Amino acid sequence: MSEATSISANTGADASTNASLRAKQRKQWNYLPPEPLAVPPLWYRPWRKPLAVAWFIARPWRPTKERFWFLMIALVLWFFFTPPLETMADFHWQWMSYIWARNFIITLAIVGGAHLWFYVLRGQNAELQYDARPFVKGSKRFLFGDQVRDNMFWTLTGGVGAWSAYECLLLWGFASGFSPLLGVGEGSPWAWVWLVALFLLIPFWTGVHFYAQHRLLHWKPLYKRIHSWHHNNVNIGPWSGLAMHPAEHVILFTDCLLYLFVLSHPVHAFFNLLIHGLGAPLSHTGFEGFRLRGRKRLDVADFYHHLHHRYFDCNYGSPDTPWDYWMGTFHDGTEAGDKAMVEMRRKKAERQRNKKNRKVKA
Ligand SMILES: [Zn+2]
Ligand SMILES: [Zn+2]
Repeated sequence: MSEATSISANTGADASTNASLRAKQRKQWNYLPPEPLAVPPLWYRPWRKPLAVAWFIARPWRPTKERFWFLMIALVLWFFFTPPLETMADFHWQWMSYIWARNFIITLAIVGGAHLWFYVLRGQNAELQYDARPFVKGSKRFLFGDQVRDNMFWTLTGGVGAWSAYECLLLWGFASGFSPLLGVGEGSPWAWVWLVALFLLIPFWTGVHFYAQHRLLHWKPLYKRIHSWHHNNVNIGPWSGLAMHPAEHVILFTDCLLYLFVLSHPVHAFFNLLIHGLGAPLSHTGFEGFRLRGRKRLDVADFYHHLHHRYFDCNYGSPDTPWDYWMGTFHDGTEAGDKAMVEMRRKKAERQRNKKNRKVKA
């Protein structure tokens, strides 16, 4: 049985086994999602069409999902908080600093607001919090010896800086005629079909890109110099999402360069940028959802990536894309998943030992 098959098979563990495993796991977790992380229906075999279609189109776009709100924010930004396109055909500091300032304010309001609600006001105490340990203080691993301040610094400097720089480049592309601009209300009905289809495709594009660049960053030389900064955060909060080496900020947002060359609208570009600019911090909140008056109002963190911070060499991608299932690096959150990870590490170490021995003999 391949590594991929053995790890994926864990998703099929029966309910009673899961119940006892989950009880055991509660010693190291404060909260676990109700089921082991499952393979999304789109990648599930045998393929169940209605389920897969519903998951692809309807599920991630409900108002309880971040994706819906990123699209709403992208529309608001375009209609109310973006300078007229014709003024952005040249790189001028005035409109570029406006873009930077509005992204800075959005980050402060939404990421800062999430930190305030979850960790300062303790708005829902530890309810739905994966790991209840406090953030690190007094460690040389972090700037100012403080995890939260360090994370805020890197988010508000490199994070907002890279996001805004890419946004300015894309807006210049649309304004100057360098990029193909999809003018809504003009052209054929196919333009409308493409307009909508591109929104559905963007999360998959960002997922594929995220997996590829993340695997690359786990390559030893890049990991040591760049990605280890982000992994200093074992327990994570909203400010951890964009707390990374500035080179990683530059790499993270490269997926949005697509809109320089593909027929699109600035709202597509904003939506893609928000998936990283706000999506990364929200997926690191450490809380499964935002609860108000006893009800979960919005899904925020993603346990999938939380496991990556805890165990380091699993779940490199996003839950929407199949790469971890296919590459044998999927951790479903159960104790069986822990065992599969240990086994994968053992095999990896064995392969490395054999490689070394072969070199010595040669
Ligand atoms: Zn990583
Ligand atoms: Zn992370």
